[in-house]
Amino acid sequence: ATSFGIEEALKELGLNETNNGTSTGANWFSNGEEIASYSPVDGKLIGKVSATTKEDYEKVISTATEGFKEWRQLPAPQRGEIVRKFNDELRRLKEPLGKLVSYEMGKSYQEGLGEVQEMIDICDFAVGLSRQLHGLTMHSERPGHRMYEQYHPLGVVGIISAFNFPVAVWSWNTALAWVCGDACIWKGSEKTPLTSVACQNIAARVFSENGVPEGISCLITGDYTVGEMMTKDERVPLISATGSTRMGKIVAKEVAGRLGKTLLELGGNNAIIVTPDANIKNTVIGAVFGAVGTCGQRCTSTRRLIVHEDVYDKVKSAVVDAYKQIKIGNPLDENNHVGPLIDKDAVKNYQHALDKVVEEGGKILVEGGVLEGEGYESGCYVKPAIAEAENSFEIVQHETFAPVLYIMKYKGDVSDALELQNGVRQGLSSAIMTNNLREAERFLSVEGSDCGIANVNIGTSGAEIGGAFGGEKETGGGRESGSDAWKVYMRRQTNTINYTTELPLAQGIKFDL
Ligand code: NAD
Repeated sequence: ATSFGIEEALKELGLNETNNGTSTGANWFSNGEEIASYSPVDGKLIGKVSATTKEDYEKVISTATEGFKEWRQLPAPQRGEIVRKFNDELRRLKEPLGKLVSYEMGKSYQEGLGEVQEMIDICDFAVGLSRQLHGLTMHSERPGHRMYEQYHPLGVVGIISAFNFPVAVWSWNTALAWVCGDACIWKGSEKTPLTSVACQNIAARVFSENGVPEGISCLITGDYTVGEMMTKDERVPLISATGSTRMGKIVAKEVAGRLGKTLLELGGNNAIIVTPDANIKNTVIGAVFGAVGTCGQRCTSTRRLIVHEDVYDKVKSAVVDAYKQIKIGNPLDENNHVGPLIDKDAVKNYQHALDKVVEEGGKILVEGGVLEGEGYESGCYVKPAIAEAENSFEIVQHETFAPVLYIMKYKGDVSDALELQNGVRQGLSSAIMTNNLREAERFLSVEGSDCGIANVNIGTSGAEIGGAFGGEKETGGGRESGSDAWKVYMRRQTNTINYTTELPLAQGIKFDL
């Protein structure tokens, strides 16, 4: 990896060929088998990371549990100050980290930088939040009583994240959890282990320079078996897990079995409704970016385009035309729009979806295929494809994590479109393209979109950190990032204080002795 400054980026981030976390300063103990990280960009080995063993995990959890006891005593605004300093380092290292994200995960360099920008934004948000961890004050029904609620730190938060946002999702959780007074243990994706190590290095350095107790930022590495060490562990009161619905169902059951809390951010099957009143030019930009951006590997990627029959042919040919402009290739080269899929398994899933949609009666409008030859040696570059399909097809009901867009027609009014859009098991992101106020408001109303995210005149992907992010149904119901998502990282306590000399009981109950 000599091109595009990757070697320099790795050096700046403190990474080398074998990264085994045995340093106590890094709150990272891993002495297990090696995980090799190959870039989907050029198929080359980037580096190795050793996996966390059961013994390593015991060290991590006991360090985090002890560290938490000290960290929770620090006033929240002082914890915010630590997050501010961590953020200074993110700003300084934005370019190398963005580059590594692009090289290890395969998204465009612009999107890699965008991901680090999200980390910076959520840290800024968390710093402000550190002075706003508010509870309510209520009027007591009893005279001479005061009643209020307060939020206390929860403990050790376990974070399990997916490959497609290898750094941002960690920060959405940690930045908030840290100001809330929690210690965090992160298991990143085994497909992107080096970005995890890079982030951990930054946190470890800033924390140790600022006298933060050991164990407030911990990293464990490996596959699902390492994740299970946390989901089964009652010392971890909250598991925040991002990934497939399949994973979420297993994690939810495991954690519920010990009555722990979960925050689940799972798969999507996102649609854009295009009504006769839509701005077609913006629709095309929104739909194409949504479907092919990050090579269709965003949880909010546009999977379905639900178009009114009156504008169907026009929209269809505009989108098909736009696909002809798409440049596929090395994502570090800013001339390309679309990089590779994460690995060859993902390529297989993509091919399966294209075969299946035809088998079920769909019609291919833009041909897919795996690219070969110079620049495509990794075998992970595929052509974004479009198929005309029915919403009821089994493959359409399913999230394929690749650039496959299904286009379908609706007749009648917006409620007919909504029936299709809501007629899937997932409920993450949704959008309507319309300049008709009635249609837009119905889409947002109680009978409208059933998703956690509902947009008007923008696409399904590209959320801002200020809003709470997440979805309903099989997307898992969790909310992360902005708004009041911080509350999940704390425990709520209701306090009633009697400042009289009597002991009146609630509900007027008499109990005379
Ligand atoms: P994945 O489910 O294969 O893996 C996600 C993480 O879960 C990995 O770290 C993995 O090791 C871990 N894991 C898997 N099984 C586990 C188990 N039984 N116990 C504990 N940990 C376990 O997902 P992926 O392929 O990395 O990511 C793609 C998926 O993530 C897509 O479905 C996408 O929609 C979803 N996603 C959702 C959001 C969101 O915010 N809703 C964001 C990003 C990605």
